Amino acid sequence: MLVTYFVIGIIPLLFYSFNLSKTLHNYFEDTNEKEVLYQANKIAGSIQKAEYLTDKSKQDLFWKELSEKSIEENFRIIVVDSNAVVVADTNNMAVGQMYMVPEILVALAGRDEANLRSDEEAIYASAYIEDARSNKIGAVLVVSSFSDIYQLISEINQKWIFMTVIIGIIVIALVVFMSQIIFDPLKNVLATIKEISSGQFHQRIEIKGNNEFTELAEAVNTMTQRLEEVDKSRQEFVSNVSHELKTPLSSIKVLSEAMLLQDNIHEDTYKEFLQDINSEVDRMTEIVNDLLSLAKLENNENRLNIGEVDINKMLRDIIKRLQPLSENKNINVSFEAVKDVVIEADEVKLSLAISNLVDNGIKYTPVDGRVKVSVDADNQDCFITVQDSGIGISEQEQSRIFERFYRVDKTRDRETGGTGLGLAITHSIIMLHNGSVKIISGEGQGATFIVRLPLKRKQS
Ligand code: ADP
Repeated sequence: MLVTYFVIGIIPLLFYSFNLSKTLHNYFEDTNEKEVLYQANKIAGSIQKAEYLTDKSKQDLFWKELSEKSIEENFRIIVVDSNAVVVADTNNMAVGQMYMVPEILVALAGRDEANLRSDEEAIYASAYIEDARSNKIGAVLVVSSFSDIYQLISEINQKWIFMTVIIGIIVIALVVFMSQIIFDPLKNVLATIKEISSGQFHQRIEIKGNNEFTELAEAVNTMTQRLEEVDKSRQEFVSNVSHELKTPLSSIKVLSEAMLLQDNIHEDTYKEFLQDINSEVDRMTEIVNDLLSLAKLENNENRLNIGEVDINKMLRDIIKRLQPLSENKNINVSFEAVKDVVIEADEVKLSLAISNLVDNGIKYTPVDGRVKVSVDADNQDCFITVQDSGIGISEQEQSRIFERFYRVDKTRDRETGGTGLGLAITHSIIMLHNGSVKIISGEGQGATFIVRLPLKRKQS
């Protein structure tokens, strides 16, 4: 980031300043060359007009004029004759010598020229002098210092370098600042996610401020909370399963030890003990079977075997199957159907789900009570109601009874023989059918379970 921002911030600036100094240099070079050339021409013109070169009597005046001009413009002016021999030099150095710089040779050949000599930091401009018959009788060379301009450009460059450094510092400060508001929270989130992925589900990201990172942190926290819940329920489940299986196992252990340690046991006692062992084994089998059903239902690969299900017939069959239980407790199980209802569902699974509800209705209703099963439907859904006159479920318990192994009253349920998995199975099946289940109950007020199931399966 630092490097990127630095490059983005500084490179254009360097490029710009380099270009600007070059443009400035070119501009000054061009205008100065023109100016000096113009001056050279002007001087050549006045020499020509006043005939200074041909008329020796005017030499003093000529000299005076040249030195005035030279001082005024800060030029060095050199005048040569047609043989390139210096006749006047405002620096008084080259008089009488041949002065063969390229500009003079070019001027003597009849052309004006101006050049910048960067080594001397000076502009050389020359112009030729003619007599009345247009013969080239000499040339003027004007040397103008360019060092002021060089100085100016280098000052401008220094200012640019200074600005570049300042902007560089600002960019670095900004990047450091940005990294604090962007990368620090990100690092924080990342560190927590690493801890979470190593199994520390109690970790949460500290939430500060209100920006995209807070949203990210909140999302991660919610996810982690969910993971923690799943992890907890998994642990609970394992401990519940062990506990549920431990009880019948200890009974079997006690019963079998009793038989082993006693001599001369009566055959009837043996039988009684074995019956007890047998029923404990049945109970364990029931728990394992229910667990297997649940596991199958919760497995994502589980597929529903969808077909048309005649709900009324299905409910009548369930009631008939459970008749021995209801008759045992002298419970009247009635059925009421407002209309014929046919839905798209998995009949075997749905039958198991509703059967659990009717079974519970019978189980948790005292002798001589009643259970009413009814069915109704609107355009979209079918509603199956299982209502009993039993012990009811308090409001706090209602939200928990669909949990695996949850029982309101542990001791009583041992008597009724439930595994605590029936409603969990029912709930899973109804969810698989995109339905819902509602409880209306209160302690001692009987319980009503209303199952809503869509008539048609949505194509997913
Ligand atoms: P169980 O095998 O113990 O019946 P379920 O999952 O079917 O397990 O039910 C869970 C618990 O919900 C039961 O132990 C019971 O306490 C309560 N319950 C379920 N149905 C009823 C009902 N119709 N009336 C009262 N309590 C009920």
